[in-house]
Amino acid sequence: MENTGFSPLCEKIIEKGAFKAAVIKTDDVETDASFRTLCEQNVCGSYGRNWMCPPDAGEINELIGVLHSYEYILVYQSVGTLEDSFDIEGMAEAAINHHKLMYEVKKTADCEKFRRVLYLGAGGCRLCEKCARITNEPCRNPERAIPSLEAYGVNVSQLAKAAGMKYINGQNTVTYFGAVLFDL
Ligand code: SF4
Repeated sequence: MENTGFSPLCEKIIEKGAFKAAVIKTDDVETDASFRTLCEQNVCGSYGRNWMCPPDAGEINELIGVLHSYEYILVYQSVGTLEDSFDIEGMAEAAINHHKLMYEVKKTADCEKFRRVLYLGAGGCRLCEKCARITNEPCRNPERAIPSLEAYGVNVSQLAKAAGMKYINGQNTVTYFGAVLFDL
């Protein structure tokens, strides 16, 4: 259930371009270690090719433990509009816009001076044009790199529901999620 005590923060995130934002308790987040199997199938092409994705992001049960060690999670979503369901360019543009939003959210949440904070995004980190993992070099920007919700075993469709959001926002749209875990 949404914690309305954080409404001013959520409003700021919406002003930055999010479609919706809400804070819930991490106790209400469903995680599942078996999601790692989906990552291993490498449909997105990032498995073993991005420092913030599996297997390099960390062992699934450890990451689930880290997630649940936080008290709150700010969930936000962005919605991109597509010309039709084959609009690959529109999807790419929506992904870029969501990536920009993730760093705007980070800037905003950093100002809150939370005791502990962890940022999670949609898919692998896209900060560099080509992740250094591909050439087996160290991460170029570990302070700003953002791991994926999937890497932490989050059931994103359940997360949406728990935060009072739709997982899919209608025909010819694409919805991306991001999250900020924090302790006061
Ligand atoms: S900051 Fe660059 S090198 Fe590090 S995880 Fe992100 S894309 Fe890869």
